[in-house]
Amino acid sequence: MFRALVVEQHEGKSHASLQTLDDAQLPEGDVTVRVAHSTLNYKDALAITGQGPVVRKFPMVPGIDLAGTVEASSHAAFRPGDQVLLNGFGVGEVHWGGLSQRARLSGDWQLPLPAPLTTLQAMSVGTAGYTAMLCVMALERYGITPGQGEILVTGANGGVGSFAIGILAQRGYTVVASTGRMAEAARLKQLGASEVIDRATLSAPGKPLGKERWAGVVDSVGSHTLVNACASTRYGGAVAACGLAQGLDFPATVAPFILRGVALLGVDSVYAPRALREQAWAILARDMQEVIGQVAETIPLSGAADAAAALLRGEIKGRVVVDVNA
Ligand code: NDP
Repeated sequence: MFRALVVEQHEGKSHASLQTLDDAQLPEGDVTVRVAHSTLNYKDALAITGQGPVVRKFPMVPGIDLAGTVEASSHAAFRPGDQVLLNGFGVGEVHWGGLSQRARLSGDWQLPLPAPLTTLQAMSVGTAGYTAMLCVMALERYGITPGQGEILVTGANGGVGSFAIGILAQRGYTVVASTGRMAEAARLKQLGASEVIDRATLSAPGKPLGKERWAGVVDSVGSHTLVNACASTRYGGAVAACGLAQGLDFPATVAPFILRGVALLGVDSVYAPRALREQAWAILARDMQEVIGQVAETIPLSGAADAAAALLRGEIKGRVVVDVNA
């Protein structure tokens, strides 16, 4: 028997509750994991509260991330006792996820926990931090370097934004953080931002082209914010877009792309290829210990539903780790 958060749907409405389940109820998979830690991402908050169409099969155990120890495996790459990590692959959406003391999944989706990270540290990173890393890698693959100028990070107090600031600062970039919570400016500077700007300067409809400022952008917000970020990106700069916290829309003109050669780089973490995941996690494990230690708070599984609602109200700073055994 084990405890899990379960999202059910009745008459079109989602409801999440803590339930005790039997191993026999676990879904198909060649690796069974004793989960130590999971996390709360924006997507998990939508799944738990039912405020977005994330869950595509009910009942669902949400949680797009997990880290723990293999209990049983018929997959060639994993043995009982191995520590593993999982992000995405539709887990917590179409396949039972990490907000549970036990999970059964495909070994093809999992990575060995990268040393020297603990399960707690890996989940402090979670999908949000790993996505921030993918965004920075996308900018660097494009040729962006610290010497080229300022990097704008939007949604700065969120999970992706907080990690993006820490990662960029650690790699020597000058970071400008955009937030709706200016009262948290000191926290963002502590993470590595050299300047903090009010997100209101970016969130309303703007001109097709603005004054050239950003060498690069990490955007987790979308909508007018992404449009305005592109419009103020310098000639030849690049914008990594991964999120939609303001909106899914992109009411832009092509002006920044055809007149300034700006590149818009899409970033997906869910089905990112294994080589990219391994590269991202290797950098996180090797270089980001200090950032990891600053960004997360830990809550018990019983607190996940309340924390999900708080996250969607914009009240959470940084990352939330869930200790599923607390
Ligand atoms: P969080 O909720 O932790 O952070 C989102 C942040 O966006 C908030 O903290 C807030 O920052 C800002 N924000 C919220 N609402 C608005 C608004 N209306 N206008 C402008 N800014 C707003 O979420 P995550 O960091 O976990 O995820 C951020 C986004 O990235 C989500 O849309 C998520 O779905 C997406 N994502 C995509 C992934 C991918 O694979 N492409 C993977 C992970 C996340 P502040 O208070 O500082 O203004």
